[in-house]
Amino acid sequence: MTRVALIAHDEKKPDLIEFALNHEAQLREYDLLATGTTGQRLIEATDLDIERKESGPLGGDLQIGAEVAADLLDGIVFLRDPLRAQPHEPDISALLRICDVHDTALATNLASAEFLIEGLAE
Ligand code: PGA
Repeated sequence: MTRVALIAHDEKKPDLIEFALNHEAQLREYDLLATGTTGQRLIEATDLDIERKESGPLGGDLQIGAEVAADLLDGIVFLRDPLRAQPHEPDISALLRICDVHDTALATNLASAEFLIEGLAE
């Protein structure tokens, strides 16, 4: 089954929730995982079944990165806050890097997230 990770920084969580609501039928086709707080917010706002990893600052980004390294993930939607530095920036950079190493689809904004979700359906 296609496996997709969903992550959003705090300022972007409302955008990711709206995206998930708008694409709920499509996302239901995928095996979903998320960082802790993002996953909690999505579970509360949607009917999607989502595996929750640790919260980002506690290592959730690295756990998702480990799945990329093991070739278990098909794509990641990661809505980053471009205006605020995050305390776990090194973990975020590591996740982006491992996606490039493994050529794993990565969307960091809503426009590319649309393409990723549609593209993985094919
Ligand atoms: P969170 O982590 O979903 O637990 O907030 C996301 C992140 O900060 O990378």
